[in-house]
Parts: sequence; C-alpha cells; structure tokens
Amino acid sequence: MPTVMISHPTKALGDDLRFVLIVSEVHLIQVSDPQQKGIVAIQHTCKCERCWHYRQDVGQHAEHSTLCERCVTNLYGGGEERHYA
Ligand SMILES: [Zn+2]
Repeated sequence: MPTVMISHPTKALGDDLRFVLIVSEVHLIQVSDPQQKGIVAIQHTCKCERCWHYRQDVGQHAEHSTLCERCVTNLYGGGEERHYA
C-alpha cells in the first residue's frame, strides 16, 4: 500500500481529497509523531471499467457489475455531488 505524507490536515475536503490527489480512495490517519501532520494511504480494490478508480463498490450494482457506484450515479442517476474538486 503506497503511503504519501501531507503537511496539513485536509479534512475539510472530505471525499473530494481523492480528486485533488488524483487517486481512487483516501483515508486520513492521525499520527502520534508531532512532525507528521497526517498520512494518506491508498488501498487498491476492484477497478471500475469506466473511471479506472479502484473502489470497493465496484460490482455492487446488479445491472452494472463492472462500474463503481459513482459511475452508475453519473451515467444512470442524478450525478455525483462534489464540493471542492
Ligand atoms: Zn467508476
């Protein structure tokens, strides 16, 4: 699992942080070392055939088994809601 150090907490970006970092998924973890402000960990799961993001929700939709929920929403629903990125 690749790990990237970031200098400032970016909790305000929420899930949009993954679009800023151009990665599939991001989890922020608080660390005890005062020199470290935060860690971004990237976990690879199933790859969506449309957006190429590795998401745990790929295959959850019965009619679109190769898409993530974000793509299903963008193609067949009301579209995703982004706030910052
Ligand atoms: Zn997708």
